[in-house]
Amino acid sequence: MKAISVLGSTGSIGTQTLQIAEEFPEQFKVVALTAGKNLKLLVEQIKQHNPEVVSVADESDIKELQERLSQSNLEGQKLQPPQIIGGAKGLDIAASWENADLVVTGIVGCAGLLPTLAAIKAGKDIALANKETLIAAGPVVLPELKRSGSRLLPADSEHSAIFQCLQGTPWAENAILSTGVPTPGLRNIQLTASGGAFRDWSIDQLKNATVEDATSHPNWSMGRKITVDSATLMNKGLEVIEAHYLFGLSYDHIEIVIHPQSIIHSMIELADSSVLAQMGWPDMKLPLLYAMSWPNRIQTDWKRLNLPEIGKLTFEKPDTVKYPCMELAFAAGRFGGTMPAVLNAANEQAVALFLEEKINFINIPRVIETACEKHKNDFKDEPQLNDVILVDNWARKIVRETVERNSDQFAVVPKTQ
Ligand code: NAD
Ligand code: MG
Repeated sequence: MKAISVLGSTGSIGTQTLQIAEEFPEQFKVVALTAGKNLKLLVEQIKQHNPEVVSVADESDIKELQERLSQSNLEGQKLQPPQIIGGAKGLDIAASWENADLVVTGIVGCAGLLPTLAAIKAGKDIALANKETLIAAGPVVLPELKRSGSRLLPADSEHSAIFQCLQGTPWAENAILSTGVPTPGLRNIQLTASGGAFRDWSIDQLKNATVEDATSHPNWSMGRKITVDSATLMNKGLEVIEAHYLFGLSYDHIEIVIHPQSIIHSMIELADSSVLAQMGWPDMKLPLLYAMSWPNRIQTDWKRLNLPEIGKLTFEKPDTVKYPCMELAFAAGRFGGTMPAVLNAANEQAVALFLEEKINFINIPRVIETACEKHKNDFKDEPQLNDVILVDNWARKIVRETVERNSDQFAVVPKTQ
């Protein structure tokens, strides 16, 4: 029985993690939950999973949550009410909860950084969905892992695929440690990408992409931010940096392949030129289950892969002109130091402005590039946590200012119908 703490329990990753816990009650027990604003769903989750502690993002929601829980008569159902906490401190406490063995990081964005670090310092194993943490703060997170012995188990589907393929190699011991040390014998990584919502659109059509268009993904059902990241292909760019930190390969050995069916979740090429791939339906529950159950495999009755039903698996080269975000991510990754933190924060801010209909879809990469260019003047090679937080705030500010200054060019937003 593994005790789990779920950060971001009301989101796409969080709810799928809880579905797994519900489906396999003999394997997993939920001891801690944290969520943002969706108190209604959080109350349902508390009733279902009976955690020991619950943290809400905003401390002012603690009272409201307590009231809702007292109305829902937990004692009548013989459930012990959880300890309710909140704010940044509450998040840290839930992330490092003594009785938890594994922390699933389903918070979106750099907001996941401090709680993930708290969990690592407490020696917890991490099922890493919140890629932004590693991208912004790889140079800070990796040494902490080494110090605490906490293991980073990838839950992102591509990195889970690589991780699963590596289990079958003689260097599996190294591959599981994710300390940024190059995995011996691993020659190349091919990250697959579905191509996102706009894979069949022309550059001209992209100029008129609406929020609604960008938030409908053809293959995966995910939160809004990552769905927009998939449409710009920044998600794949971020995953390149994530792969670099997880598996220690240089950027010259990480490639992106467009694979519209999303059946192959990524591939590794080994020293002898053999290529291994992991396959499955596009369903996040599988990589999540593997991160939660590693090194074991749990028997499920989930829909089995049926290749004749799919018929064809196809592959294409990514279009870097239509999707500049991939190259921006490669460049930021190669720069290293604080640059990926700037790329990540600028992207978070640009996506937020796009979702508020303040900038056009095609301007997302432009404002990110502006922030990265400006950062070259005060870039830090070996950042500490404080440097990461400072540049994160700085990049968000630069993006907001750039958009305000150029509002006539940037804010040409086609209205959602
Ligand atoms: P989501 O928007 O559906 O959920 C985010 C969760 O985080 C919610 O519970 C929200 O309340 C909480 N949250 C947001 N800001 C917070 C804050 N400041 N403090 C505390 N809680 C906060 O997002 P998602 O799609 O589940 O993605 C979560 C993470 O997993 C992201 O980093 C994403 O890149 C990664 N990921 C998601 C998927 C997927 O299929 N959804 C796949 C791979 C990786
Ligand atoms: Mg992914």
